[in-house]
Amino acid sequence: MNQPMPARKTHSPIRTCVGCLERDHQHKMARLGAQQDGVRLGSARPPRGRGAYLHPRAACLERFVAGKGNEFRSLRQRLSRGERQTVAAELGRPFTLT
Ligand SMILES: [Zn+2]
Repeated sequence: MNQPMPARKTHSPIRTCVGCLERDHQHKMARLGAQQDGVRLGSARPPRGRGAYLHPRAACLERFVAGKGNEFRSLRQRLSRGERQTVAAELGRPFTLT
């Protein structure tokens, strides 16, 4: 066992956050999976390969919930504001936006 440690860890996939729209390591973000009855948080593989990623931090959640767009290409479905609020609440930071 004499292998040098790699200078950088490059095994982590890069995904785009649906809040801030910045690219980051997948493991830093929560995964959103498109289900038949809406979008849920989850660690399992997304059904039919549909999933999105979101930083579990207030700034990203706010932008995700309050964003003008309601269609997310990575999920291939629309999300109402209510659905986005539910996702944000499940991440532990409920928002009440009127
Ligand atoms: Zn983000």
